[in-house]
Amino acid sequence: MGAIGKIDEQFMNKIVIAIDGFSSTGKSTIAKLLAKKLNYIYVDTGAMYRAVTYFAIQEGLIGADFFHVDRLINCLDEISISFKFNKDLGFAEVYLNGKNIENAIRTLKVSKFVSPVAAISEVRHKLVQQQQLMGKDKGIVMDGRDIGTVVFPDAELKIFMTASAETRANRRFKELLERGHNLSYNDVLENVTTRDRIDSTREDSPLVKAHDAIEIDNSDLTIEAQLNTIIKLVEDRI
Ligand code: C5P
Repeated sequence: MGAIGKIDEQFMNKIVIAIDGFSSTGKSTIAKLLAKKLNYIYVDTGAMYRAVTYFAIQEGLIGADFFHVDRLINCLDEISISFKFNKDLGFAEVYLNGKNIENAIRTLKVSKFVSPVAAISEVRHKLVQQQQLMGKDKGIVMDGRDIGTVVFPDAELKIFMTASAETRANRRFKELLERGHNLSYNDVLENVTTRDRIDSTREDSPLVKAHDAIEIDNSDLTIEAQLNTIIKLVEDRI
């Protein structure tokens, strides 16, 4: 029986799938497709850190040469992040205090400030609690940096995605151009490598491969090939 048939048959046995990895490794593309195929919930945890960053920018708490960390921590109770499924897009969009900010959080400006914001323990604590609640009934695909290590250390399937920095910057650059952003490839490369450095070296929940995660270097893999590999791994786990 083919991969999909088996999944239909064993569908009731829901698992948690954690997808971690460096910036712009295509985690969300794969996670969305996987969730659709399995009829699972997909949660983009990067969108949650971006939402807090967007809030900090809007409130004047972070800028090119300042970051009022204590004030942001004091404001955390005013931040409510939610997801609403958009049927046309086929995935859930992120909302900040009831406002759809799915597009607003994808700018280079938000990308520039998000890693320092995500390094704050109080921010992580709040978001990790919410993420754990979202996954308590399993049947979830969650992508991020610390899903397999901190959020769901007992996840049944952990994937760690990698690709060369140039491949990743190229992907992100094309994606941003398509969205109508005006920027240079070098800006994007610089942002991707800086974020990886901050995310990998922060004290709280640094980006590391979980010891039981399966690494997939997708520099030369099509989306279909990646998906098929992961579906086989899901079958094994279910
Ligand atoms: O996934 P995305 O690139 O949108 O994530 C944006 C940033 O959010 C990352 O560079 C990282 O600083 C932070 N992040 C995190 N932990 C997660 C997901 C994202 O620290 N689980």
